[in-house]
Amino acid sequence: MAKRDYYDILGVSQNASESDIKKAYRRLAMKYHPDRNPGDTEAETRFKEAKEAYEVLSDAQKRSAYDQFGHAGVDPSMGGGGAGGFGQGGADFSDIFSDVFGDIFGGGRGGSRAFRGADLRYRMEVSLEEAVQGVEREIRIPTQVKCKACEGSGAAPGSTPQTCPTCKGHGDVRVQQGFFSIQQTCPQCSGSGQIISDPCRECGGRGTVADTKTLNVRIPAGVDNGDRIRLSGEGEPGEQGGPPGDLYVEISVRPHTIFTREGADLRCEIPLSVTTAALGGELEVPTLNGRVTLRIPAGTQSGKVFRVRGKGVKPVRGGTPGDLLCRVAVETPVNLTKQQKKLLEELAETLEKGGEHHSPRGSSWVDSVKSFFEGMKF
Ligand SMILES: [Zn+2]
Ligand SMILES: [Zn+2]
Repeated sequence: MAKRDYYDILGVSQNASESDIKKAYRRLAMKYHPDRNPGDTEAETRFKEAKEAYEVLSDAQKRSAYDQFGHAGVDPSMGGGGAGGFGQGGADFSDIFSDVFGDIFGGGRGGSRAFRGADLRYRMEVSLEEAVQGVEREIRIPTQVKCKACEGSGAAPGSTPQTCPTCKGHGDVRVQQGFFSIQQTCPQCSGSGQIISDPCRECGGRGTVADTKTLNVRIPAGVDNGDRIRLSGEGEPGEQGGPPGDLYVEISVRPHTIFTREGADLRCEIPLSVTTAALGGELEVPTLNGRVTLRIPAGTQSGKVFRVRGKGVKPVRGGTPGDLLCRVAVETPVNLTKQQKKLLEELAETLEKGGEHHSPRGSSWVDSVKSFFEGMKF
């Protein structure tokens, strides 16, 4: 059974705050608690559902995993299952899972977020084949690294940053405004609490210098346009010892000459000769892993869609592979020889004699036109 969306279960929006989530859960728990609804299995299910949703959404790490990967990101039975047999070394999909659950930032969202490094986004273009089969790519991204000359302090070697005299190192100051006293980021040190009087010449006092880094990214099989892969800690470095940001690799799938993708299904359009369409026969169709032969029944009409089971895409979040849907387009022959024209004329004559019998669409079309004119008042 498909699991319901956790946000839907709690009746909150995707950007609900922690307290909204807590409130929603408390309300549902009160309403559906088994003690209040003895013998009511529906209520019991609702209660369990709400509890599970709350357990995930109230945990910053689990919630972000759920936001990115859906139920697959938080269902313990799935683990890093979507990743498949990836080895050590690269920053890959299973790394993403372990980072999500590995709680590297301790308390996570709370605390001194101000000094966490910025997240980076990298748009990666892949072919449809790569998206379906998975691929490993090396990417080079611009980054800021800790300045070696000053070890990241921003102060010239031999000097040390001084405590900011305005805020005495607190990073913020109280300002009197009318009757109110409000807290503000210290204008002199911009919140760092330190003043660098002799800035490092290598980095101009920032403590970081521009560089590029090479990352090995493993794209798991089944990704689709717009999917994001989070490489934890590969964003910009934090300031003042803060944690680095994350790198999001956003997948963009190039259009394919033959196939278009719709979720787990692939679609293609294949020309079919008028003779095979009429007489029946076999038609070879391409799939992403080789060719298959379709049996075309006699009397196949243009636009008919044939389904080749299991030749679609296996979704990255798990589940069964989709199908390949082949739409046949009956082709009208062109550049006919004299003899071919003659044969067709003879064919036309015999078809006309047979009338509606040979023309399933034509006859219903004629009927429609007739009733259309009958319904009109001239
Ligand atoms: Zn420096
Ligand atoms: Zn200051």
